[in-house]
Amino acid sequence: MVVALQKPSTPLACPRCRILWREHLGSMEIPGPNALAVRTANLCRHYQMGEVLVRAVDGISINIGAGEFVALLGPSGSGKSSLLNLVAGLDRPTSGAVIVQGNNLAALSREQLAKHRLHTVGMVFQSFNLIPSMTLLENVELPMRFAEVDRGERSARARQALERVGLSGRLAHRPTELSGGEQQRASLARALINRPKLLLADEPTGNLDSRTGTEIMDLLHSFNRSLGMTVLMVTHEQALAEKYAGRMLHLADGKLVDDVSNDHVPNISSVETPAPRGETP
Ligand code: ADP
Ligand code: MG
Repeated sequence: MVVALQKPSTPLACPRCRILWREHLGSMEIPGPNALAVRTANLCRHYQMGEVLVRAVDGISINIGAGEFVALLGPSGSGKSSLLNLVAGLDRPTSGAVIVQGNNLAALSREQLAKHRLHTVGMVFQSFNLIPSMTLLENVELPMRFAEVDRGERSARARQALERVGLSGRLAHRPTELSGGEQQRASLARALINRPKLLLADEPTGNLDSRTGTEIMDLLHSFNRSLGMTVLMVTHEQALAEKYAGRMLHLADGKLVDDVSNDHVPNISSVETPAPRGETP
């Protein structure tokens, strides 16, 4: 379902590009509460390792609605990271479909897949993956350089994003000069800087103590609520999933073995329409 933006009464033409609002708004639809962010159909990623075939992802079919906060749980080796990497467009399926924001990733060219990674998804990892030789500001500006955002705008947006995660006093620091929690907050700012619709997090609290981990989870939760951003988060911590996720998907041996709604945390897509996009994280 799509919900058209409210049509303004005046002026008739958009002051920035002079296109009539009627035409302009046609291309500015935002997803309604029931739109799908991710759909996979019989998705497989198998690795041939000599004689052995490893079925890392083995026939997974899931639907994730726009605005949901979903936790992906399962023992080590159950295929969580492999599944996340397929949704991120970092890897391609052996068979089956993975459709993100309406695009079938298997059908995209390398260039289109690179655009998907740059604009549609943001990713955070257990090990932060910041570039050690760059300052925090430069790290957060980097995805905007690839997206060819104007230099002046890059700096302003990166500062704003770092401020939002509580790091305005650390702009010139390099990653090694920061605590783990600060590095993860910076990597969140970087993941969200191109305003993706979908945030993918692979054990984002795995290297953090529980208090710092909770701070990161609170930030993820606030981005989900205030920006209507869909979150798909891998964790092996059941307690974290129960506290924050509206739904828990359990994997074992590359298969989906359980799909549980968490009544304590109603998903945004089932309770309210996501806020309009455009706000800088
Ligand atoms: P999880 O994130 O749940 O711990 P992974 O998705 O990393 O699990 O791995 C699932 C299975 O796929 C494991 O058995 C792992 O050894 C295997 N695997 C993952 N990546 C590769 C790879 N690049 N080459 C071969 N096997 C892999
Ligand atoms: Mg993993």
